[in-house]
Amino acid sequence: MRQKVIAGNWKMYKDLAETRELLGALVARTAEIPEGVTAVVCPPFTSLSVAAEMVRGSRIRLGAQNMSEHDEGAFTGEISWKMLKSAGCDFVILGHSERRQYYGETDESVNRKAKKALRAALQPILCVGETLKERESGVTDAIVGGQVRGVLEGLTAEEMNRLIIAYEPVWAIGTGRTATPAQAEAVHAMIRGIVRNLYGDAVSQSLVIQYGGSVKPDNSAELLSQNDIDGALVGGACLKADSFYQIIRSAK
Ligand code: PEP
Repeated sequence: MRQKVIAGNWKMYKDLAETRELLGALVARTAEIPEGVTAVVCPPFTSLSVAAEMVRGSRIRLGAQNMSEHDEGAFTGEISWKMLKSAGCDFVILGHSERRQYYGETDESVNRKAKKALRAALQPILCVGETLKERESGVTDAIVGGQVRGVLEGLTAEEMNRLIIAYEPVWAIGTGRTATPAQAEAVHAMIRGIVRNLYGDAVSQSLVIQYGGSVKPDNSAELLSQNDIDGALVGGACLKADSFYQIIRSAK
């Protein structure tokens, strides 16, 4: 039985005062996290230390939204795996479509970052997903399949047990337009099939594959009840404790 992992991507929202307010509300309600569900928050870098203090000893786990592919050095504005570890992170989102679209990230750079993260015992959440044009041209499986193979290149079966794949159709992110449960399930099953071909049945069966793209309290239960949907990467709806907890509870 796979864990359901619900991760909140705060994106570029919440200063320190707002971080304290939201996390205060989240930590106060951890009794609502069902058994078998892992809840993760991914605030901006500037909030990580404060967030780490606040979630310590609770059932909420901490992740970052990006990470450098380098260990250290003259890379102005970058954040290393070591910094994320020392700030208290267990997870890191890599290759989010906004990073691919605005900051030139590619499957190759995401793959290099994934290898660094795994060696540092950070659990990567590797994002893949097609654009609207690609979906409408009927190449979703080819695009997403290629991204999956690209970001996993050279990873071992043991490393596969320590990562998450997030399928996030680009056309559904922040648009209010969600993939139907059947559309999402079809891509998730395709991804699991690729992983089965590459790593065998046991690895593919234990892999957590999240769905992301306008997940809200009113659509999460149906999405999360699909066979191959093992969690959600949530943007807008994670910024309020109420809606985040409604999604977390619906993962039961
Ligand atoms: C995301 O940022 O990964 C995301 C899925 O955002 P939203 O839920 O707002 O579509």
